[in-house]
Parts: sequence; C-alpha cells; structure tokens
Amino acid sequence: MEQTLSIIKPDAVKKGVIGKIVDRFESNGLRIAAMKKLELSKKDAQNFYAVHRERPFFGELVEFMTSGPVVVMVLEGEDAVSKNRKLMGATNPKEAEKGTIRADFAESIDANAVHGSDSLENANIEINFFFAKREIS
Ligand code: GDP
Repeated sequence: MEQTLSIIKPDAVKKGVIGKIVDRFESNGLRIAAMKKLELSKKDAQNFYAVHRERPFFGELVEFMTSGPVVVMVLEGEDAVSKNRKLMGATNPKEAEKGTIRADFAESIDANAVHGSDSLENANIEINFFFAKREIS
C-alpha cells in the first residue's frame, strides 16, 4: 500500500468538478484517506513548489495556485503514486491521453486541474506539508 498527495487546483474547484475528479480516484482503487479544502497563502505555494523556484514559470505558478481554494487529499492504494500520475495525464492537457483527468478537465499547462506527487519520497514530504497524522485514516 502506498499513499500519495493529490491537489485539485483552483481551476477545477472553480469549475465545480471536485466530485467528478474524486470519482476518478475512487473508481480506480484509490481510497481517500484524508481530504480538506483550503486557500494557499503565497508563502505556502512558494514553499510547496520550492523545487521549481528557478523556473521561469514559478511566479505564474504561485499566482495561479493562490487564485482560489484548492482541495488537498491523501490517496491510498496499491501503487498509489504511479496510479494517480496515470489517472492525471500529462502536465500539458493538450498532450494528455484521452480519458485522463487533465484531458477532460484542464485548460492549459498552468491551469491543469490537478497536482500529484511524482515519487514516494515526495509523496511523504507533501503529505506532511498539509496533514497531521491524526487527519489521515
Ligand atoms: P506535474 O508534476 O505534471 O504537475 O508537472 P511539473 O512538476 O513539471 O510542474 C509543476 C506545475 O507547474 C505543473 O503542474 C504546472 O501547473 C506548472 N507548469 C509546468 N510547466 C509550466 C510551463 O511551462 N508554464 C507554466 N505557466 N506553468 C507550468
């Protein structure tokens, strides 16, 4: 069993597709072990995406992630990290495989509906960023 972090980004929350995205996870063997809706502060977004701070799109990314509420979740299941990445689709929705979350709900490379941890190590760090142990069950 693995756990991974998923974020439903501000574009998808604004569009009203929280339920549809959660259904993709639950229908594909990923259990919601924790879930909350919140607004990231600028500092939160900068810290969460610190690995990207040298990238040219860092400012836009932080601005977008703080543009409205997000839903953060811990997903649990067999191969949860890679399974979630597969369900999400490619970073650029134009390149995302048909039937993936980004192909179906995302608009652009920055407003791309969801975040998902890219390794088990990062999943652990990202889960701890958002959740206390007692919030995960
Ligand atoms: P992910 O793991 O598929 O989310 O992709 P990355 O870790 O490479 O990038 C993190 C996030 O930065 C992506 O989900 C996008 O929201 C954003 N991003 C990545 N590349 C670009 C880009 O070229 N331009 C902009 N504006 N945002 C980008």
